[in-house]
Amino acid sequence: MKKYIMALDAGTTSSRCILFDIGGKIVSMAQREFPQIFPREGWVEHDPMDIWSTEAAVAAEAVLKIGARWDEIYAIGITNQRQTTVVWDRKSGQPICNAIVWQCRRTADICEALAKDGKEEFIKERTGLLLDPYFSATKLQWILENIDGAREKAEAGELCFGTVDSWLIWKLTGGRVHATDYSNAARTMLFNIHTLEWDEELLSLFGVPRSMLPRVMPSASLFGYTDAALFGAEIAIGGVLGDQQAALFGQCCHSVGEVKNTYGTGGFLLMNTGERPYMTANGLITTVAWGIGDEVTYALEGSVFTSGAAIQWLRDGLGIIDTAPESESLAASVPDSDGVMVVPAFSGMGAPWWDPYARGMIIGITRATTRAHIARATLESLAYQTADVIDLMQRSLGEKITALRVDGGASANSLMLNFQADILGVPLHRPACIETTALGAAYMAGLSLGVYSSLAQIRENHKIECEITPKASPEWREEKIRVWRRAVERSLGWIE
Ligand code: ADP
Repeated sequence: MKKYIMALDAGTTSSRCILFDIGGKIVSMAQREFPQIFPREGWVEHDPMDIWSTEAAVAAEAVLKIGARWDEIYAIGITNQRQTTVVWDRKSGQPICNAIVWQCRRTADICEALAKDGKEEFIKERTGLLLDPYFSATKLQWILENIDGAREKAEAGELCFGTVDSWLIWKLTGGRVHATDYSNAARTMLFNIHTLEWDEELLSLFGVPRSMLPRVMPSASLFGYTDAALFGAEIAIGGVLGDQQAALFGQCCHSVGEVKNTYGTGGFLLMNTGERPYMTANGLITTVAWGIGDEVTYALEGSVFTSGAAIQWLRDGLGIIDTAPESESLAASVPDSDGVMVVPAFSGMGAPWWDPYARGMIIGITRATTRAHIARATLESLAYQTADVIDLMQRSLGEKITALRVDGGASANSLMLNFQADILGVPLHRPACIETTALGAAYMAGLSLGVYSSLAQIRENHKIECEITPKASPEWREEKIRVWRRAVERSLGWIE
């Protein structure tokens, strides 16, 4: 009798496995961190074998620790850190170099040259993306140009490229399947999000041989079966999608206009925009949310560079709290921030400011300012930055959102969430299961294997644990945002 859906969550710093029952409840969980490799300033790498071995280990651990059997698993769903680029040898299954991680800035000059060449608009039209080292194409180009023999082998069809999902599918199937899904392909900068195919012109722009690329499939598909030699059973891989898209799906933002924010190290806002890609010119990204059968759902995405990381800074940088949750009690010890504003532009400001030269700032300090005011202002900055991105989305679409679904580490902070609701003027919903990324992958796998017959059936599982309603007046909100914007303007262009 089958009972569980397994989600493999291949994150940036750790590999996780969660077993869910079909009601979407967590039954077992295992997690292992793996090394972050920093060969130079601004470079970030992972050993693909570390990603694979930790992911295989947590899968085994999650099953064994509850005494489950492999044949009790309906299907596997994979969700992963996006954009990170892996290249391996088709015959040996060995990576030819470390994976270049999404955070890695080594291809900034390639991007600058392309921008000078006037390629930005064309790339944006085809891919929905901004020209930035964040995405896979320039990382892959760098590998082909800098790793000995890579270009020749690639031209000869001996190499495979993939994002982390493809790498895991390859390993799980014993090298039988080289595939990815629409949501991951959409982050490579090689994929045409309108035709849902690899784009020949982009491939030639980045010098990528067609033979290296995985087959692109809908997110809910039968990607293949795990090699029986691996776990002793052939388990269907039924769902694959990038981490933020998985969170959108796991939050059950299945309808147009539904939006979620994940307050992790950074903040990730995604809005379901339905069956057509919604192209904007204001720095938001247009991406594929998921594909189910013939139906493709698109999303608008905006990010906040520094979200929960600002709370880590209170703890590790300033040392004014010992743990992240303590930020809440400290901030609650004062009625408000007493005019103090913190702009956490530690690595520049993203949407809608787009200024890599901005730097962090605390302003409005008086003789009466205490660490509690600074903690409170820092928590509030998470909310202001989120409101800025939502404002941009609303202006792009010409419509107001009616609620915001929240998850991620800092969404545990009720003081911050109350402020967020007040600043936005819409209710926030926090689900009972905040492991929305893994849950989204599990749901997708369950959907493709027929464990769920419809999205409506999945939504029956969705429980809101708390609803936070706004209490502030529109005048209060406008005034707060006005002051926030004055503060941000003072932090822009600081690096000369
Ligand atoms: P990631 O997946 O990016 O590692 P998580 O979703 O695990 O992030 O969230 C971790 C972040 O949440 C950290 O930056 C941490 O500072 C922040 N955080 C965790 N708990 C709280 C809390 N109670 N209040 C505010 N921030 C918190």
